[in-house]
Amino acid sequence: MASETTAGARWPDPAEAPAPADLARCVHCGLCLTACPTYLVTGLETESPRGRIQMARLIADGRADLTPAIQAHWSLCLQCRACEAVCPSGVPYGRIQEHARAQVQARPAAGRLALRLRRLALRQVAARPRVLGAALAPVRRFAGWRLRGIAERLLPGRLRTLARQLPSNQGAPLRLEAAAAGPAEGEPVQLFAGCVMRELFGETHRATVRVLARAGARVEAPPAQGCCGALHAHEGDLAFARRLAKANIAAFEGAEGAIVVNSAGCGAAMKEYPQLLAGEPGWAERAAAFAARVRDLSEWLAARPGLPRGAWRVRAAYQDACHLAHVQGIRREPRALLAAAGCDLIETEGADTCCGAAGLYGLVQPGMSAELRRRKADAFAAARPEVIVTGNPGCHLQYLAAVREAGLGAEVLHLAEALDRAWSDSRAPRR
Ligand code: SF4
Ligand code: SF4
Repeated sequence: MASETTAGARWPDPAEAPAPADLARCVHCGLCLTACPTYLVTGLETESPRGRIQMARLIADGRADLTPAIQAHWSLCLQCRACEAVCPSGVPYGRIQEHARAQVQARPAAGRLALRLRRLALRQVAARPRVLGAALAPVRRFAGWRLRGIAERLLPGRLRTLARQLPSNQGAPLRLEAAAAGPAEGEPVQLFAGCVMRELFGETHRATVRVLARAGARVEAPPAQGCCGALHAHEGDLAFARRLAKANIAAFEGAEGAIVVNSAGCGAAMKEYPQLLAGEPGWAERAAAFAARVRDLSEWLAARPGLPRGAWRVRAAYQDACHLAHVQGIRREPRALLAAAGCDLIETEGADTCCGAAGLYGLVQPGMSAELRRRKADAFAAARPEVIVTGNPGCHLQYLAAVREAGLGAEVLHLAEALDRAWSDSRAPRR
């Protein structure tokens, strides 16, 4: 939501500035501090939600410029929105941070080339399915290569971490036309496939389709759908995020039923399309109608009666994806589905604390990302789960690296894969 700015504000792009009303909601109570991963790691007010909001207020009031130091403090924010979920004043921190990042886009103080390259890659690669498919084909081949382990050892530090994150069991990308499944008389459901998710998590998507069909859905996947725009919005490229949102709204308008999403970050962004398009003439109703249809996979499944029951007796640790727990408020549903599938659910310390994946964060802030990953690995080592379950591709990659770096034996699965496995030897649906 672009806004009017206060007189004297020093925003480089006033049309996309954080709204003064949003900033004014913070009453400095500090209740968000201990929910914030970067504050927990650093102990610094400048790396807390309250501190970052105060910096935006100083710029909005004309008392500070958008300095390199302020940009660095904002850049360390994961945009996990744990602060937003606990804030008693309802500060829309995610929206504030996206508009703050738009200011950085307008006048980057440092790392200008890297920022421009990221923006170019997000616009010209991530948002173009064919280009993205060509770009990720070698990555997929590497992930399934039998000499991968040797090759990884030869890679330098950051590249090795990235290589360790790749899932080896995902097979070919999802073809949208192959996603059609389920009984002809089933409840219509439209699958959202995403961008990177579609290319690197083909098997997760196929498991999602099987699970949905098993739950009685008639699954389709509209061919004109594309990237949700979440990464663009988080980067502050709001204009391009709006273009992608409009394209997706148009792509799903002619298709019936819920729009089911198996990526927490995409689902959160799509539920917030009305906010993103608030200032766009002619889009308010269309965005609201679209958002009202969006369901996370767990949310859609948990509302269905007569799901298959499983007897998959494994020690499973469910990890909340930030944009599922903090933004969509979905915590109970995935756990209930896993428990009904027969899993012995265990809670690990910090299950709803950000893992440090956060979109492109691992590339931009490798140090903090690694520290948060290490903390997750410590929690897994203490609880010894056999299976770690998540509902977001970025988290999935981060947990694969955490498990491998710590030498743990746990398997990392998307909720769809876990249910697909649990239900495969269970009783047929009671319907
Ligand atoms: S963001 Fe919310 S919780 Fe944090 S200091 Fe401001 S009012 Fe308090
Ligand atoms: S979004 Fe996450 S990292 Fe950023 S200030 Fe809020 S809690 Fe901290």
